[in-house]
Amino acid sequence: MSSATGGLKELHQLHLDLDACHKQLDNGPRRIAAHEKRLTARQAEINDQKAHITDLQKAADQKNLQFRTNEQSVGDIKAKLNQARTNVEFDIFKSQIAAKEKENEGLEDEYLTMLEKVDAEKARLEEMNGELKEAEAALQKTKAEFSALEPQVKTQAAGLEVELREAEKCIPTKMMEMYRRLVEAHGPSTLAPLDANACSECFVELSPQNIVEVRTAKFVICKSCGRILYSADPE
Ligand SMILES: [Zn+2]
Repeated sequence: MSSATGGLKELHQLHLDLDACHKQLDNGPRRIAAHEKRLTARQAEINDQKAHITDLQKAADQKNLQFRTNEQSVGDIKAKLNQARTNVEFDIFKSQIAAKEKENEGLEDEYLTMLEKVDAEKARLEEMNGELKEAEAALQKTKAEFSALEPQVKTQAAGLEVELREAEKCIPTKMMEMYRRLVEAHGPSTLAPLDANACSECFVELSPQNIVEVRTAKFVICKSCGRILYSADPE
C-alpha cells in the first residue's frame, strides 16, 4: 500500500467522522428549537380553547337569563290571571302563559345542550394541558440529552481536527489550494473511493490511464464531478 493512497483513505474517513460530529452539534439545537416551537403552539391552542370556553359559558349564561326572565313573566301573568275581569281577558292571559311556557321548554333544552358543550370543551382543555406537559417533558429531555452529549462531541471534534490537519499532509503542496476549495464546495465528499473502475460519487467510469494513476496513488481528480479519487483497496 502506498502511503499517499492510505493517507487519502484516512483523510476521507476523518472528514466523514468530523462531519458526523458537526451534524450532531447542529442537530441538538435544531431539535430543541423544534420542541420549543411545538410547545409554543400547544400553549397558543390552550389559550384559544380557554377563550372558546369563556364564549360558550357566556352564551349559556345569556340563555339561562332569558329562561329566568321568561319564568318571571309567567309568574307576573299568572298573578294577573287571578284579577282577570272578563273571560276574554282570562283567555288572553292563559294563552300568553302557554306561549311563554312553550318558549321556555325550548330555552331550557338549549341551555342544557350548551352546558354539555361547555363540559365537553373543558374536558378537551384538560387533555390539552396533559399534552402541554408531555411537550414540556420532551423539551427538557432533549435539552438534557444534548447538554450531556455536546461536550463529548466537541472534544471528539477537536481531536479529529488535529488528526485531519496531520492527514492533510498527504496532499501535495501545489494541490493544497485546490483541495481547500474542494473541501469548501463538497465537504466530506471531497474525496471519493473508486467503485470498481468508476468514481463512487458520480458513477462515471474512469479511463484506464486514470485507473492506473489512482491505484498507484497519483493525485487524480474525477473529470466528471471534481472529487479527489483514491483506491479503497490499494494493491
Ligand atoms: Zn466523480
